[in-house]
Amino acid sequence: MKLMNFVNGQFQQEAGAEFVPVINPATGEDLAQVQRSTAADVDEAVKVAKAAQKKWALVPAPKRADYLYEIGRLMKERKEHLATVLTKEMGKVIEEGRGEVQEGIDMAFYMAGEGRRMFGETTPSELADKFAMSVRAPIGVVGLITPWNFPVAIATWKSFPAIVAGNTFLWKPATETPMMAYEMAKIFQEAGLPDGVANIVFGSGSEVGTAMIEHEGIRVISFTGSTDTGRKVAELGGRHLKKVSLEMGGKNAVIVMDDADLDLAVDGILWSAFGTAGQRCTACSRVIVHKDAKEQLQQRLLDKMEKLTIGDGMDESIKVGPVINKKALEKIHSYIEIGKEEGAQLVRGGEILTGGHYDKGNYYAPTLFVGVTPEMRIAQEEIFGPVISLIEVASFEEAIRVNNGVIYGLSSSIFTADVNRAFKAQRDLDTGIVYINAGTTGAEIHLPFGGTKGTGNGHRDSGVAALDVFTEWKSVYVDFSGRLQRAQIDNEA
Ligand code: NAD
Repeated sequence: MKLMNFVNGQFQQEAGAEFVPVINPATGEDLAQVQRSTAADVDEAVKVAKAAQKKWALVPAPKRADYLYEIGRLMKERKEHLATVLTKEMGKVIEEGRGEVQEGIDMAFYMAGEGRRMFGETTPSELADKFAMSVRAPIGVVGLITPWNFPVAIATWKSFPAIVAGNTFLWKPATETPMMAYEMAKIFQEAGLPDGVANIVFGSGSEVGTAMIEHEGIRVISFTGSTDTGRKVAELGGRHLKKVSLEMGGKNAVIVMDDADLDLAVDGILWSAFGTAGQRCTACSRVIVHKDAKEQLQQRLLDKMEKLTIGDGMDESIKVGPVINKKALEKIHSYIEIGKEEGAQLVRGGEILTGGHYDKGNYYAPTLFVGVTPEMRIAQEEIFGPVISLIEVASFEEAIRVNNGVIYGLSSSIFTADVNRAFKAQRDLDTGIVYINAGTTGAEIHLPFGGTKGTGNGHRDSGVAALDVFTEWKSVYVDFSGRLQRAQIDNEA
């Protein structure tokens, strides 16, 4: 199968295009070939998107929303097929694949509802016979750059608010996971979305991503990916005066206090640390545990880690799938030596799995380090794999300090039975998302999603907040007095 760019409502022709393979991380099998686009392809798609946007902005928002209802309906109808494609190209287990598709469906219906809200403000004027209000205006052509770990959900967090707000878009999916984008293109086409509203350009970050950021026809760049790439996107975007929304890396922690329900905490840690093989931006990679709970927690974690099944996510009995590629496998493994050299104790895992079907895919053993101190690199840097570090603390205050002592600020969690501590924690944890008595993952689409410090630059995906990225505020004053009225001057009279 050859995956071609989707521009102006059509899949482009193959002639002269270059391709790269799409590989199933569980089996090593070639799934498809994807177009490797150039800056010229970006330019062509921007021209199309720009022309389409003028008309699209004039379609009433509730009518724009009708397309989202249809897109959501088609996604729902095809949920199992989409989840299967997702699991094959990305590797997360099928149950999580279904969950991710569901997130996209939820986002479609939720954002469709915005077509009849998209509230602005009406406010009294300081002058007589004058009316004042603010409205959300579309921005134009927007650029969406997405990572491989959530091939569809993140794209829906960005493209659906962009659509309902009256923008047209160019979406560059990650090279590793273009098949979900291809499936979405077919859905956009079948839903009858007008040509040129949704455009998908496949290719590398350095070539296609850069061309999008530099293109004068694109007004907004909404990026999700690593902090290193996000910094480059912001630098280049800044030079071109783009509005840049960044959702980046994380080093998320679960805090377990001495009064916590330890079985519940273990379940929360396992789900958030080893789900998606630790490759969620919100994955738990640090466990900050009170010294009085440490021995018990460690033992229960080890007991349950023992039972985790690792393999191809298409098998319903598997709990931990592969990691995305060989490079990721090597990066994760490099942190084992780093941890040992720093003096941490490896008590489980720490190896690339080999033998039998493991040899065909990219499998890493769920790993636990103990005796980790907060300044160690394994406790500071995003490993993005199934590796957790246990850090012992002596008090609630120390736990909060350790949680906040990293450059990232995406998600955090605390297990405690003390309601006062729970409320203090939600106030003091410096992250964009806080969970009480649940792990670090599990965001719902109607609340803002994003992080503080090195994780973000103040914008949010998802929720109504997503509209802020894709709209400009326009303040409108209507003076019906029939005479010159000067604000701040004539109101003295
Ligand atoms: P990445 O930064 O390597 O790539 C992300 C996207 O940016 C890809 O589409 C890539 O092709 C593109 N890109 C690469 N270089 C570029 C450049 N110079 N200019 C423009 N675009 C460029 O990230 P990844 O490995 O695909 O994803 C994993 C990372 O994403 C992790 O750090 C994870 O924490 C983060 N993430 C964050 C969130 C969030 O909402 N905060 C969600 C998911 C993933």
